[in-house]
Amino acid sequence: MSGMVIIGAGHAAGQAAASLRQEKYEGPITIIGDEPFVPYQRPPLSKAYLAGEQELERVYIRPEKFYADKDVTLKLGVTATAIDRAAKTVSLDNGESVAYDKLIISTGSRPRILNIEGSDLPGIHYLRTIADVDAIRDELQAGKNLVIVGGGYIGLEVASVGVTHGLNVHVLEMESRILQRVTTPEMSEYYHNLHSGRGVHIHTETMVSGFAGGDRVEKVLCGDAGEFDADLVIVGIGIIPNVELAEAAGLECDNGIVVDEHCRTSDPDIYAAGDCTNHPNPLLERRLRLESVPNAMEQARVCVSNMLGGDKTYVAMPWFWSDQYELKLQMVGFSADGDQQVVRGSKAENQFAVFYLKDGKVVAADAVNSPKEFMVCKQLIGKAVDTTILADADADLKQLLA
Ligand code: FAD
Ligand code: NAP
Repeated sequence: MSGMVIIGAGHAAGQAAASLRQEKYEGPITIIGDEPFVPYQRPPLSKAYLAGEQELERVYIRPEKFYADKDVTLKLGVTATAIDRAAKTVSLDNGESVAYDKLIISTGSRPRILNIEGSDLPGIHYLRTIADVDAIRDELQAGKNLVIVGGGYIGLEVASVGVTHGLNVHVLEMESRILQRVTTPEMSEYYHNLHSGRGVHIHTETMVSGFAGGDRVEKVLCGDAGEFDADLVIVGIGIIPNVELAEAAGLECDNGIVVDEHCRTSDPDIYAAGDCTNHPNPLLERRLRLESVPNAMEQARVCVSNMLGGDKTYVAMPWFWSDQYELKLQMVGFSADGDQQVVRGSKAENQFAVFYLKDGKVVAADAVNSPKEFMVCKQLIGKAVDTTILADADADLKQLLA
């Protein structure tokens, strides 16, 4: 018996291995990962682990011992180089070949790289892995000039850690507002003001044209927008899904590995989960490629159920979170789908929720420091609601669930 093989040792892989054993699968399980770590959580990398407030062992999704206890074979520090679908084997860069009955591809994504003048100078970092953060943390010292390229989640979470550690922080964003890809102009403005108020310098419509320096980066060049002194640069300009292995194996790929509602690829013995998938969302009635932990974990559960003979469909409303300073932002659905906004609570007090409605029904919500309300928000999606109750911070939201 060849067993179940999982390529990539990230969020989806960790969940898939655990779910296989929870579902009483007793055969061999092998995880192949090119990083030297057991599956770990990426969210702390731009938050508590970067800030030095979380131990490495607490970043792991499950302790190392879990895999031995559950008889899961880990092949770490090795890269899967090819999938032979006819022979049902995976080739590794150490010369080994691993046979599979069913395969999950959960290869995640990699940072988009800036390829401009000086972009290979020491001191310019990307942030995706534990190794990346370990290199950055050594350089995160009070008084230094930190320039962040990209005003997305990575950029803003790192800015909050940097300025809190006493660095002089500049964020350069090429669009007209930060968080443009993921939120509304009003929420962008709220976060812009928040960061400015904490001392972060945000520069929108600012495109990096190059880097200058001797032994390491000293300046970030932005054409007509000027230049910025830099002791350290962190680039967070989005990701690219890791689909090359699937593509080379002849699996259908189109902005991600194309899977059906059962997380199955165009080969019935091969499933895919996480950042690397282009999947249908029946609730939103469109295809998506999502970059979020809840998506990776739930797709992994669906893969496992179906690999073991089930008929489970992936049906989940996308949700996300981001921690910046003492603020927890939680989001469900896509605010761009709404045509009406209702605000509840107080932006000035950093405790509020914004509901987005379309044709009178809630389609999305953003909640800041309102975790209890967020739990209700998730259940309000798709419901037609009384907006006066939504807007009234003293009214119990739960009455809208009836
Ligand atoms: P990954 O966790 O990326 O794992 C894929 C693994 O496969 C990687 O280790 C990769 O190196 C490996 N791999 C790739 N190709 C091969 C190969 N050929 N052979 C062997 N191994 C291979 N999401 C949230 O929901 N909330 C957050 O707050 C949040 N914060 C984040 C903070 C940071 C700094 C980053 C980088 C991401 C964050 N995300 C967050 C996104 C979230 O981490 C990802 O969506 C999630 O990790 C996706 O899981 P995955 O299993 O698809 O991929
Ligand atoms: P991101 O959220 O896509 O943000 C990247 C930002 O950089 C975008 O606003 C982008 O603009 C901008 N940009 C692109 N090229 C640029 C350039 N040359 N100069 C200046 N700005 C540029 O990606 P990210 O912040 O790099 O995060 C990477 C991954 O980690 C994503 O999957 C993200 O979801 C995940 N992550 C998630 C969280 C969270 O959920 N809390 C936290 C950290 C990281 P355009 O939109 O126009 O391209």
